[in-house]
Amino acid sequence: MAAELPAREAMEFDVVVVGAGPSGLAAAIKLKQINPDTSVVIVEKGSEVGAHILSGAVIDPIGIDTLLPEWRGEDTPIKTAVTDDRFYWLSEKSGVRLPNFMMPPLLNNRGNFIVSLGSVCRWLATKAEALGVEIYPGFAAAEVLFNEEDGSVAGVATGDMGIGKKGEQKDNFTRGMELRAKYTLFAEGARGSLGKQLITKFDLAKGRDPQKFGIGLKELWQVAPNRHCKGLVQHSFGWPLDGHTGGGSFLYHFDDNLVSVGFVVHLNYTNPYLSPFEEFQRFKTHPLVRDTFAGGKRLAYGARALTEGGYQSVPKLVFPGGALIGCNAGFMNVPRIKGSHTAILSGILAAESVAMALSVGRANDELSDFEAGWRDSAIGKDLWKVRNAKPLWSKFGTFVGIPLGALDMWTNTLGFSFFGTVRHGKPDYATFRPASECTPIAYVKPDGVLTFDRLSSVFLSNTNHEEDQPVHLRLKNPGLQKSSEHDVFAGPSSRYCPAGVYEWVDQEGSPKFVINAQNCVHCKTCDIKDPNQNITWVPPEGGGGPNYPNM
Ligand SMILES: Cc1cc2nc3c(=O)[nH]c(=O)nc-3n(C[C@H](O)[C@H](O)[C@H](O)COP(=O)(O)OP(=O)(O)OC[C@H]3O[C@@H](n4cnc5c(N)ncnc54)[C@H](O)[C@@H]3O)c2cc1C
Ligand code: SF4
Repeated sequence: MAAELPAREAMEFDVVVVGAGPSGLAAAIKLKQINPDTSVVIVEKGSEVGAHILSGAVIDPIGIDTLLPEWRGEDTPIKTAVTDDRFYWLSEKSGVRLPNFMMPPLLNNRGNFIVSLGSVCRWLATKAEALGVEIYPGFAAAEVLFNEEDGSVAGVATGDMGIGKKGEQKDNFTRGMELRAKYTLFAEGARGSLGKQLITKFDLAKGRDPQKFGIGLKELWQVAPNRHCKGLVQHSFGWPLDGHTGGGSFLYHFDDNLVSVGFVVHLNYTNPYLSPFEEFQRFKTHPLVRDTFAGGKRLAYGARALTEGGYQSVPKLVFPGGALIGCNAGFMNVPRIKGSHTAILSGILAAESVAMALSVGRANDELSDFEAGWRDSAIGKDLWKVRNAKPLWSKFGTFVGIPLGALDMWTNTLGFSFFGTVRHGKPDYATFRPASECTPIAYVKPDGVLTFDRLSSVFLSNTNHEEDQPVHLRLKNPGLQKSSEHDVFAGPSSRYCPAGVYEWVDQEGSPKFVINAQNCVHCKTCDIKDPNQNITWVPPEGGGGPNYPNM
């Protein structure tokens, strides 16, 4: 088939960046700051920069301070400083506020800012373009290109457009473009589809712990002015999750009467009947938070996976011709729920390494100083202190694991740990117990005011895909869905997918697996959590997916 396709046009750059998130944009900006003559292009699968960005977000300004030290005097979307920081342990009917003095200092949010990370990326994109970076939104990097002679990475190819459901070329068929480069930086965020291939091809995870993930669901609300406490940051753990399931909530009051509310569930949960979406809806009904939304309006909804493995799970970052940066490398600090600053810092470090290599005429080789340097950098120091929080939580459950994790973060602040480095357990896809050993969870119907169903939620993500295109959620073995996903695990995809993409429907008495691919919000949870690793997420036609205005 491939031989019948017309050849792709190719463009040559010094550096290709895949993904216009904080890490990719920071790398591009830094490259141009160091040498304005470096040619840099960014491809972004969202219809515009920010369209696929979903985050909390309380940001630690260390990244932006390092990249653009003059930003505080400018008109930016970073407007709300944190003024109040609260942490709660919730039971069903009440909550205990943990005194701030008990919290390890690294969890303190004073000096941080509450933002829409999508808006911050749009602003960073204007900075990048002003420096001469070319940004191509609406183009997904679908394939890694390799140099034939030495196997090094030579760039990426964007996906072909205008292919029909059955693989046929439609009238508007357009061949993808080859973007060739001396170095390619993969900044796709958590569970990047090309990053995943590179980790396998170059065995980058060898000797590291398995990467761990969470799913984060978020709504943006416009609340009544008398319910808004600008600058308030509130986190909780405990209810509605049981003591064996990790996760928690965030609630951030920012800008003009906006509140970001969200819920993270660690993807090593074991009960296939659990629905992260329903747990999130349930959380909003807690007496401590429900009044926040009285008289308010839900403006947006979305979901995205986040990496949780931290220090122990960061793969080797480099391979001949490129590097992984940001959450594609797993630089998320889980207890702080922050990864945007490490994403920016990793973009800067990688750019410095690339600039150095280019300045002496190198190309398509390994950026070994980037790999050698990150552990001693601000990123490594940030992740090192919290490295045991997540594995202790997973091993000992919420009620014992969290206090142990807090103790460990305190002692690490003082320079030691009683635990050494705790290893992560199984990969998240292997943690489901068979449905026969688990109890179904009864979730209450949504009221349409405070709590909602999945489809009306997806509507607020403005998700749109060209319908006549091949399904971008690929099944390796369709039969396995019935024999295992359905028969053994009771179809968890219909519950973990936050967008209602997967359904088991009754067809003449037997269950049929349906994939409503056009609803997909690109969170990547199915690629991570399917118990058989039978589902692979690949980029759909460029521009498809959510259109988040300011998430
Ligand atoms: C619910 C939630 C809450 C969070 N809260 C916070 C917080 O409060 N503070 C904080 O600092 N961090 C927070 N984080 C983490 C933070 O959002 C990430 O660490 C950060 O966004 C990572 O940046 P990145 O550039 O690595 O990837 P991303 O921000 O994920 O950006 C990746 C970009 O690459 C694009 N892309 C991916 N694949 C391709 C492809 N093949 N071709 C073209 N483009 C592609 C995507 O569309 C996207 O625009 C949160 C994350 C979640 C999910
Ligand atoms: S299909 Fe997969 S990637 Fe898409 S929204 Fe559902 S779980 Fe997320």
